[in-house]
Amino acid sequence: FRYWDVRKVRTTCSFCGVGCQMELLIKGDKIVEVQPYDGAANNNMLCVKGKFGYKFVNHPDRLKTPLIKRDGKFEQATWDEAYDLIVSKLKEAIDDHGPDSVAGFSSARCTNEENYLFQKFLRAVVGTNNVDHCARLCHASTVAGLATTLGSGAMTNSNREALKSDVILVSGSNTTEAHPVIGAHIQQAKEKGAKLIVAEPREIELAKEADIFLQIKPGTNVAFFNGMMHVIIKEGLQDKEYIAARTENYEELEKIMESYPPEKVAEICGIDAEDLIAAAKMYAEGERAAIYYSMGVTQHSTGTQGVMSVSNLALLCGNIGKEGAGVNPLRGQNNVQGACDMGALPGDYPGYQKVINPEAQAKFEKAWGRSLNNKAGLTITEVVNGVEDGSIQFLYVMGENPAVSDPDTTHVEAALKKANFIVAQDIFMSETAEFADVVLPAGSFAEKDGTFTNTERRIQRVRQALKPIGESKPDWVILTELMNKMGYEASYSHPSEIMDEMASVTPQYGGISYDRIDEEGLQWPCPTKEHPGTPVLHTETMSRGLGLFKPADYIESAETPDKDYPYIMTTGRILYHYHTRTMTKRVKGIDVMFPESYIEINPITASRLDLADGDKVKVASRRGDIVTTAKVTDKVVEDVVFMPFHFYENGANRLTGTALDPTAKIPELKVSAVRLEKA
Ligand code: SF4
Repeated sequence: FRYWDVRKVRTTCSFCGVGCQMELLIKGDKIVEVQPYDGAANNNMLCVKGKFGYKFVNHPDRLKTPLIKRDGKFEQATWDEAYDLIVSKLKEAIDDHGPDSVAGFSSARCTNEENYLFQKFLRAVVGTNNVDHCARLCHASTVAGLATTLGSGAMTNSNREALKSDVILVSGSNTTEAHPVIGAHIQQAKEKGAKLIVAEPREIELAKEADIFLQIKPGTNVAFFNGMMHVIIKEGLQDKEYIAARTENYEELEKIMESYPPEKVAEICGIDAEDLIAAAKMYAEGERAAIYYSMGVTQHSTGTQGVMSVSNLALLCGNIGKEGAGVNPLRGQNNVQGACDMGALPGDYPGYQKVINPEAQAKFEKAWGRSLNNKAGLTITEVVNGVEDGSIQFLYVMGENPAVSDPDTTHVEAALKKANFIVAQDIFMSETAEFADVVLPAGSFAEKDGTFTNTERRIQRVRQALKPIGESKPDWVILTELMNKMGYEASYSHPSEIMDEMASVTPQYGGISYDRIDEEGLQWPCPTKEHPGTPVLHTETMSRGLGLFKPADYIESAETPDKDYPYIMTTGRILYHYHTRTMTKRVKGIDVMFPESYIEINPITASRLDLADGDKVKVASRRGDIVTTAKVTDKVVEDVVFMPFHFYENGANRLTGTALDPTAKIPELKVSAVRLEKA
């Protein structure tokens, strides 16, 4: 193509939570190239997905008309036919079984405005708080843990601040693959002289560059962080002034950390006590020491304790409220922070205002003109169980794919098969949409206006570059039309109007409007029109006042190896795929790198099982079994195996279990006991 034939539209990448800014080059009605834009979060960088992963947008598989399943087969339908059927089934469920027989999965792929409307639809139009989304599977424990210790469940600092850190601790995050541009910032910081500590079950790329690499066993995070704190306290390296001025409950922390001497922790974690001591000193001696973590910390039955342990460590050394430091949970999907902020959670209105709080209830009743349900709703895993036992009669899935992403997918599929009525709204016929009764064709990020909130709390513009594909419609248009069909008057003509409404009821978004975020975006809290946004949280006081030490004892994972299932399987992401591959498997150039599932096995384990690289291997857990391909590698230690979770065929989530963190209800996707044999 010739550059003078193309037009450029600046927007936000729709893959991960880094929030890179990019320009789509459009020729006719197609994206022909993507170029990086020097946005606040990305330093003019894009990763391979952002740069080359756009071909899904114009892919021939895009859904182009509504579909209704008749006699087990999908048939094309008009929008009116689809809406009429949805409305009649929705009213039937509400009339016969009550509003709580309806549930919806909102989408971290969709815009803030769409998430706001989705939860408003369920709360104000249907009358239920049964709304959740995939944050339940990734950072529900971050939201619960950091809200308890600091008063805000979000990343405390900003993406580019890695370049100002003098020590960086990465744990439970394969940053260069899952959040590549933040991974690049960490690598740049290291090149500039920052010390790097990596505590991970696999020898990830950053481990090779680390000053200290601790290859901890999956599920031992709490013991690891406790061991770090034990050393710091014993050596007198804690920030006593900061602890006295800005925290509470230090005495309990000191008492519990007493039981975690390095030798004991080294044995639990499978590491060297000397390395642990050196890592603790290195972190404590940093002036601006940052912690980056992700699902290696959160996806455990003790995920909330893991998150609070990270927070304890940062508070102990005075690293909260300081530029270049902080606690930095890296949110996975492009808008998972925003979907949480918008109240796509069963217990929270937008801005984490609790549905059980009478004042919040009264405020939203006034704003939305309907009386609201004050009982917290069901989480994703509880909804799946409800679909199976019939207590959920109507399930609305917007841009989620639980048939691949949730643990124990055989159980999820069995539940979806039994479902009374499912609406799936998506851009492709996903594995979950196959179970639906009605499928609605939605718009991709390139066909709509809106905003995403990235992992550093920055609200950035998404701009329409293309007309809708076929008869598809942006999700916000579908939701607005459905509200009206259900008899609730909604008259949004542009997403900016939804943003204005949302900002008026959500204090930390109170100062956000499209004119203010046109160039840079703004980081919440941004409570007023004059407020400049907040790059670093908790600078004067914590959001809750004092920082709370919440020490926890180490508890083993729900499943540990035994004679029947002697290996620990952990799961994670790879650079070339995104979530359940609905998009990346349709981009040939990147799918070709890893088109199928595989399992990483240490050479010692492999030789014990007579497995060579490339052999087929049967992997079984208490949930089921699959056959996949062995990748023999030193990246994992003996008796620990790793599978990427992206694949449906022979997917890791056939094997993962449903043990939940009791507080955050996040499943333990990171630790499953498995058996291996040559297939
Ligand atoms: Fe997109 Fe994330 Fe890659 Fe940036 S790092 S280009 S946001 S996938």
